[in-house]
Amino acid sequence: MKSALFYGEKDIRVEDRRTPEPGPGEVLIGIKAAGVCGSDLHNYRGNRPSTLDAPWEQGHELAGVVEGIGPGVYNLTIGDRVGVEAEHLVGCGRCRECRRGDYHICPERGIINGARHGSHGFSSHDITLASNCFLLPNHVPYDHAAILDCYACGVHAVNRSPVPVDGTTVIVGAGAIALTLGQVAKAYGAGRIIMVGTRPEPLQTAVEAGAADEYIVNADEDPIQGVLDRTDGEGADVVFETVGGEAQLISQCTSMARRGGAVSVLGLFTQPQTFDSQAHGMAKELVLTWSNSYSSWRGVSEYETALDLLAGGRLNAAPIITHHFPQSQIAEAFAAADDKRSSGAIRVVVEH
Ligand SMILES: [Zn+2]
Ligand SMILES: [Zn+2]
Repeated sequence: MKSALFYGEKDIRVEDRRTPEPGPGEVLIGIKAAGVCGSDLHNYRGNRPSTLDAPWEQGHELAGVVEGIGPGVYNLTIGDRVGVEAEHLVGCGRCRECRRGDYHICPERGIINGARHGSHGFSSHDITLASNCFLLPNHVPYDHAAILDCYACGVHAVNRSPVPVDGTTVIVGAGAIALTLGQVAKAYGAGRIIMVGTRPEPLQTAVEAGAADEYIVNADEDPIQGVLDRTDGEGADVVFETVGGEAQLISQCTSMARRGGAVSVLGLFTQPQTFDSQAHGMAKELVLTWSNSYSSWRGVSEYETALDLLAGGRLNAAPIITHHFPQSQIAEAFAAADDKRSSGAIRVVVEH
């Protein structure tokens, strides 16, 4: 197999490795497509040391074909086309969170038999739990299925913070998580969606892709005032934050929310956040929630919900996947994902 090995920061090499055998309950996947997530870029940009020893493999937005079946797997056969739920979300199955279906917040999330697990979508093959594989209808392309991980994050966010049919939803950010969330919110019946971003190009794509009705370019216009101006001074019913990083964006979101409204945080922040608890939280009686990845909601897999919406034509992945690279050009794929301003990328997919 051709493994994409990450030696640290921009040093990524494709090397021949022995193809592993699936163990009990596992399958061998021949990967067809894998999305480059923002979290894949943290180490690449030198922002965060890896928790894994170099060289490591990664790529958690993936889809492919079943090529090998381990003992005790009866629900899949060789040749099945599957989307694969990210392996770093696997829970222990025994703790209180896992038993109620919230395995994404298991304290031992991503650890199987004491070893840290993750998906390896940038390599040509990966071993995964058969229970993490979901059959793809033939009309769902592999690259679209690769971003089911993003769509499932949107399903979880909308499950936790319902979107109003007759009100205003704001999405702060214009990356793949923002656009997939916007499409999921529309599929869940959201009325008007306003998206806030720094550049007009991805915001225009969001409107064309059915992820937003209108947008605010925060380089041209104060985004808080922009939301108030568009809502008769009242603010938005629900505000989703998808950017994270260093800026004080939770305060921006609580300022945009209307009385009795809600703020949902999907972004990963690297700095403590402050906001006006009295003027924004108490006076408006806001609901403030965080939305971390996805798992199941009332017993239903959120990944499967996302797949049903995609297969049913309710989600439009094509305009979000702006770039495709073969594995031999993985360096170019990461460079395009890293500098979205010059590449114009929203989601970059590596294909095998
Ligand atoms: Zn991701
Ligand atoms: Zn657990």
